[in-house]
Amino acid sequence: MPLPEPEHLAASVIAADKAAIAAALNLVEDRRPGMRVLAAALLARLSAAERARAGHRIGLTGPPGVGKSTLAGAVARELRVCGRTVGILAVDPSSPRSGGALLGDRVRMDFDPADGGLFVRSVATAGRRGGLSHGSHAAVLVLAAAYEIVIVETTGVGQSETDVEDVVDTVVLVVQPGSGDAIQFLKAGIMEIPDLLVVNKVDREASAGRAFADLEAALATVGAVGAGRAVPVVCASATEGTGVADLTDRLEGRRAAMSQESVDERRLNGAVRWTLGLFATRFGEHGAEVLGGEARLRERVTTELRAGATPLVLAEQLGAEAAR
Ligand code: GDP
Repeated sequence: MPLPEPEHLAASVIAADKAAIAAALNLVEDRRPGMRVLAAALLARLSAAERARAGHRIGLTGPPGVGKSTLAGAVARELRVCGRTVGILAVDPSSPRSGGALLGDRVRMDFDPADGGLFVRSVATAGRRGGLSHGSHAAVLVLAAAYEIVIVETTGVGQSETDVEDVVDTVVLVVQPGSGDAIQFLKAGIMEIPDLLVVNKVDREASAGRAFADLEAALATVGAVGAGRAVPVVCASATEGTGVADLTDRLEGRRAAMSQESVDERRLNGAVRWTLGLFATRFGEHGAEVLGGEARLRERVTTELRAGATPLVLAEQLGAEAAR
């Protein structure tokens, strides 16, 4: 197969050509040095394309089995009805990556394969603690260059190895009635306060109203309610469609109310962690010490990314410097 040419590949990804998106997702995971150079050039172009559109990266997280996949599918369908284009990325902590195969079956949702405005893909986490893998960061960027809305679905609450917050603008925590664990994690401060909370499977639960009240009380105790801060709670049934339009409206409303500066700032923080993660994976703690320690390195990475550097290139440059 000929080497992909980053400029053309980027243009095809931005035009939401599914074959190009699949090729780009494979390229960004390719560790061979020549491919890394191409991937860096591709990601720089995609990053510029994403900045040019007011897209929304949405994270759906929560314990396994609460209905995140089903909900992602339902929200995506609702967004498609509204004319929005949607990319879904399921970050799967359990399955090993199988040679770039489309693990669509892991994502339990029906979608029309002929729909050019919807793309679904699973990626495996690298199992690295304390953040998302390089592949997940890069995959989100690829989809965000191609689609208006990117939904990132991750499993995990608390000691999650998939730190979805690093790659999204809005974090939605999905729980089900009667599941106290998420609330316990919130109360114990193990989990960040989400931007939005969904109680799913309300169709199954006679006491859904009580679950809702419990949740609001729990949110109040962690300071997520009142004092100018109120985390909206949406009751939903992903299988029956209840609450899906409400959730979608709130998500769209939230993005519309966010300034581009605040979105850029949040994405910059994620890119800083991505760069530091890349650097640490390849050059370890010793690398950071050579460059003046963690804090100075972080500061420098922030400044350089703000000035337009890209994570892959910057991590390589810093590595070369540390090796000198
Ligand atoms: P995930 O592991 O969080 O992604 O959960 P899934 O989306 O795979 O859903 C787990 C199971 O719950 C599946 O059998 C779904 O059909 C079911 N499920 C999802 N949402 C609902 C819902 O709103 N009501 C009911 N009754 N079942 C649901």
